[in-house]
Amino acid sequence: MTEIEDRTRALLAGIPPRVQVVAAAKTRTADEIRAALAGGIRIVGENYVQEAAAAQSVVGRDGAEWHLIGSLQRNKAKDAVRQFDLIQTVDSLPLAERLDAAGRALGRVVPILIEVNSGREPQKAGVFPEDVEALARAIADLASIEMRGVMTLGPAREASDALRPFFAETKRRFDELARLRLPNARMTILSMGMSDSYREAIDEGATMVRLGTALFGPRRERG
Ligand SMILES: *Cc1c(COP(=O)(O)O)cnc(C)c1O
Repeated sequence: MTEIEDRTRALLAGIPPRVQVVAAAKTRTADEIRAALAGGIRIVGENYVQEAAAAQSVVGRDGAEWHLIGSLQRNKAKDAVRQFDLIQTVDSLPLAERLDAAGRALGRVVPILIEVNSGREPQKAGVFPEDVEALARAIADLASIEMRGVMTLGPAREASDALRPFFAETKRRFDELARLRLPNARMTILSMGMSDSYREAIDEGATMVRLGTALFGPRRERG
């Protein structure tokens, strides 16, 4: 565990202070998450509502923000609103409407990012870049949602340099949305870049990167 703590501290030291680091915690144990927090991590990203609940029951919720970075099923909207400080993966109006209703029912505003499918891969989550503005305009009408920015995965590529055009296009869409000054929006987060591509993503304007293996080491298979 001290290995994770040390690796986290070293990695954070090399990242510009304007960039936030999310520890992508899928398959990791509560002890591993604690080690990353001890190394200076302030945001934990989980792919599933259930996995986040399990981790939070051991690690506790305080001392870190918890972000949903995996796809959300509409019927889990209310649980997700309870469980997470930011939902990074909103890619349709019906999902946003569910979150809005859940937020209203729970008496809170729900911070979200719009997920962009910057590689335009049919099987992947996210809206295509050319559809981001229309979705953002529709979401801006939902009073219990606060739009905080945009997130993208980018296509799987051998070389991280090959991801730059996808990051650059996502950044362009992000800037366009910010210029619209939509209601219920505060566009400050551009979440892109993972362990093998975060340097390129930061170069291209990311304000948040999501790191798994770079912090925790190689991933275990799910049991
Ligand atoms: C797993 C995951 C990451 C981190 O991946 P690594 O390659 O391990 O850094 C980032 N974002 C999302 C959405 C993930 O599911």
